[in-house]
Amino acid sequence: MISAIKQYVLSGVSRHYKDETNRRIMVVNLFTAVGMFITFTLGIRALFGGEYSLSTLLFFSSIAFAVSQQIQVRYGTPKARTISITLLISCLMILTLLLLISGGKDNTGPLWIYLVPPVTMFFAGFVRGLLALIAYTVTCAVILFGFDEKLLMTSYTYAFKSRLLYSFLTVSFLSAFYEFSRQKSYETALYLSEQFERQAKHDHLTQLLNRRGAQQSLEKEYARMKRDNQVFSIAIADIDRFKSINDTLGHEQGDEVLKKISKVFSDRLRGQDVLARWGGEEFMFIFPNTDESGAVHALEQIKAALNSSPLNIGDQALHVTSSFGVSEVNSTNSVASAIKQADKALYFAKENGRDKVCPISSVTQQS
Ligand code: GH3
Ligand code: MG
Ligand code: MG
Repeated sequence: MISAIKQYVLSGVSRHYKDETNRRIMVVNLFTAVGMFITFTLGIRALFGGEYSLSTLLFFSSIAFAVSQQIQVRYGTPKARTISITLLISCLMILTLLLLISGGKDNTGPLWIYLVPPVTMFFAGFVRGLLALIAYTVTCAVILFGFDEKLLMTSYTYAFKSRLLYSFLTVSFLSAFYEFSRQKSYETALYLSEQFERQAKHDHLTQLLNRRGAQQSLEKEYARMKRDNQVFSIAIADIDRFKSINDTLGHEQGDEVLKKISKVFSDRLRGQDVLARWGGEEFMFIFPNTDESGAVHALEQIKAALNSSPLNIGDQALHVTSSFGVSEVNSTNSVASAIKQADKALYFAKENGRDKVCPISSVTQQS
């Protein structure tokens, strides 16, 4: 029984949707269930009490609630959700307006209008909710006071009608205010979580991806390689003799040098390529859909750009070089082994004079 209820409440929910959307879907499920139950029960009572038009109206409402829930579950598109919510709110509004006009059981019909503001605000959001509520309030006022009360099938005292409208406006205002604050808090929470997520994946000095961000990109690229059967290449760059830059210029200027190098590197990348700060003064390049020789070709151009662009640090132009170790990721190896190979190739480049692009294949051939 409990699992059936849980299944009903969760129907239409998907982990691909935003939390906000899933919460709305669950509340629609709950609300339509309660709506169906109440209108159906009251419909039966009205039927046995001989109030046939009221019972027909209640049965139709019950069906409309069920249809609105089914639309949402069967067609899980944003458009279907909008249609479902519009149907649900319209159904609630029409039902409560008819109860206001007819008076319902012993003139208690108007009590149900207080359901409209919170439900409309929650489902339609602040702006659309506010517009719908204004239209609803004007309709209520016209029904209660307009056309010499000819629209009413029952009669209410003036004091009752005016208090009803005042209290309704108060509830509407509070619901709108609540929805507005809720929406703002939600937007702030979303913004903060996106900021945290960004910070966790990026390096604050160079604004490039950090090691964690690079690992995620590597995993994504590896999955794509498996799916599309396309190789990709990686490279690790280590700046040559960086210690001496730090020693002569100081650590702070060393940081400035790292920032400028990252700019030279990233300016030469193709759109799909990824550059990350792998650690200290080491950078990781990821070249999707590129074999080892393609990556070497791209890196030779990047290296040439670095060699031909002296970095302006303070009042001096600094010549910086870098060594690069390259390896390919294909169906025969893993990301971890490719990283090891790139490191090995980098070591080889350092051993053989630095300022070189060295693919792992050249190391294996020579060793
Ligand atoms: P090699 O050509 O063999 O790579 O020589 P190297 O001097 O660059 O040696 P190595 O790569 O081992 O040393 C890296 C140095 O980079 C050590 C460290 O002081 C410096 N470093 C690492 N991270 C940072 C950083 O964030 N800022 C600054 N300014 N220096 C850093
Ligand atoms: Mg290093
Ligand atoms: Mg170095």
